[in-house]
Amino acid sequence: MSENRFKENREHRFTISKPSLDDPVLVVCPKCKSKSSVVPHGEDQVRCACFTCGYTVSKSTNQRSFYWHSENPTDGYFGFELWLQTGCVGHSLWAFNLKHLEFLESYVGATLRERKPHEEWGWSNSSLASRLPKWLKSAKNRAQILVAISELKSKI
Ligand SMILES: [Zn+2]
Repeated sequence: MSENRFKENREHRFTISKPSLDDPVLVVCPKCKSKSSVVPHGEDQVRCACFTCGYTVSKSTNQRSFYWHSENPTDGYFGFELWLQTGCVGHSLWAFNLKHLEFLESYVGATLRERKPHEEWGWSNSSLASRLPKWLKSAKNRAQILVAISELKSKI
């Protein structure tokens, strides 16, 4: 039997929710409800762009708000509904982007969990894994959660 080890290191909640050009935060377009993406724009702005209807909106990166314990989470800048969310064992399973989804997959799939201090911030109770809800950490939900994660991956 091989051990599936999970190592937490760089996946801090602040970095994982921050959009990048390679891994934008995926949201529901407020106009046409298609998939749209939030990416950095210039030095201090973010832009949400919908490739389906052409809706675009930009905003300064100075204001961010988080709704980490919400059942209806939104992106940190515009407050748009996240594209990657689905119902799972009576709860809402959601992710900002592919990287976040892969983090959840490796976390939930791991049979042995290890925590390591963050390279820059050291031990922190705001680390992503320590903030995951109990139902997501429960072994009895593991199989169903992994199915839901693979469904979300197919929406990307
Ligand atoms: Zn649209």
